Amino acid sequence: MKIINPATEDVLAEVELADLAETDRAVERARKAFPAWREVAPGDRARLLRRFADLVDRHGEELARLELDNAGHTIGNARWEAGNVRDVLHFYAGAPERNHGKQIPVPGGVDITFAEPLGVVGVIVPWNFPMVITMWGAAPALAAGNTVIVKPAEWTPLTALRLAELALEAGLPEGVLQVLPGAGEVAGARLVEHPDVNKIVFTGSTEVGKQIAARAAETVKRLTLEMGGKSANIVFADADLEKAAASAPSAVFDNSGQDCCARSRILVERSVYDEFLQRLCAAVANVTVGDPLDPRTTMGPLISAEHRERVASFVSGVPTFQGSCPAGKGFWFPPTVLTHESLDERSFTEEIFGPVVSVVPFEDEAEAVRIANNTRYGLSGSIWTRDVGRALRTARAVEAGNLSVNSHSSVRYWTPFGGFKESGLGRELGPDALAAFTETKNVFIAH
Ligand code: NAD
Repeated sequence: MKIINPATEDVLAEVELADLAETDRAVERARKAFPAWREVAPGDRARLLRRFADLVDRHGEELARLELDNAGHTIGNARWEAGNVRDVLHFYAGAPERNHGKQIPVPGGVDITFAEPLGVVGVIVPWNFPMVITMWGAAPALAAGNTVIVKPAEWTPLTALRLAELALEAGLPEGVLQVLPGAGEVAGARLVEHPDVNKIVFTGSTEVGKQIAARAAETVKRLTLEMGGKSANIVFADADLEKAAASAPSAVFDNSGQDCCARSRILVERSVYDEFLQRLCAAVANVTVGDPLDPRTTMGPLISAEHRERVASFVSGVPTFQGSCPAGKGFWFPPTVLTHESLDERSFTEEIFGPVVSVVPFEDEAEAVRIANNTRYGLSGSIWTRDVGRALRTARAVEAGNLSVNSHSSVRYWTPFGGFKESGLGRELGPDALAAFTETKNVFIAH
């Protein structure tokens, strides 16, 4: 498969896609590597992960440039992502020695629990954040003693492939972390159905996630699902409007809107709606779309021509406001603001996954919560208000896994991340991530 730079349309590399037989061989290698890897002493496993982190750090600029070229990320974002991969590895390097069980009081003996690794874990990754999502799955899985096969998205395998090389260089044994580029319906589907794969971590669209959940049921495979979103950014009249409006574009246009956490529905209390919209459009006019390598650029291209067409299909008629973007080569799309006659419009209900934001008014707190929750998704969201009680009430009422008040916090690797409703199943990251990669075993020993 030809791998394309979305900012220039140049061919970056050609990558061979694994067929079913190659996928089965990868599973066999992972299965073979598992017994020895789970027996590596916790301190030694920790040391190997730290060494891997150090190598990622040393190759940070190279990884950032590779992500920039392959996924169109701005250089600032790509550098942050390379640093995030390093930090995630360091964080989970601390986990093998802390992977405690419990001792539970029972009559007639001793009862203890063990957190046993699952075996082979398949990590299926989307194209929007190829390198960080690879490591959010792989690092805790490896720390818990599993072997891992990463199936990157077809369009963006390059950073994951490089990470696999660095893992080997760091001393992780062959077969412990493999990266297998392949088509979703072939290599991805095979990992999901394979009886020797014990768990799938899937990040991607809700449609594919549902298919995976159905197929995984046949082998009662463990699953973590991270899927789509249509998150709300709720702005109350008592908020710091200047700050709320100035920060709203980055909360939805970061990574060109190709972000599952994008706050793509801005709900504004009616009394400040006009003022907010004006301020928002002024802020969107300042979004600089262009060369990802230029540090002044705030937004790069979309991932592909095909995806740009899909994004464009959501914008009919004249948008309320549209910024500018380069013409010519590259999959560019301008930041776009929509307002709505009806909240049933497709652009207000479906995940666009591009730089398009909707702004609608609400009357009161109850209506804000009702609109925010009127979606099958529940991934993230933001609440802007100076009233602490209202902030807490609204945060408790919004059905979403990751909320921030007076900010648009992104994912922090040391806090849990995941979705409510059709946005996800289970949680990644945070202090408890190893629980998703281990099976609890209870052992009773009679006195
Ligand atoms: P996608 O669902 O098309 O593909 C995701 C991955 O699944 C790819 O690696 C693909 O090859 C693979 N795949 C496709 N069909 C498969 C099948 N039948 N069996 C097994 N694997 C299969 O998603 P995408 O277009 O790459 O990514 C965009 C989507 O990802 C958006 O909906 C976005 O919201 C979501 N996403 C969610 C999160 C989160 O953490 N919740 C993070 C990033 C992206």
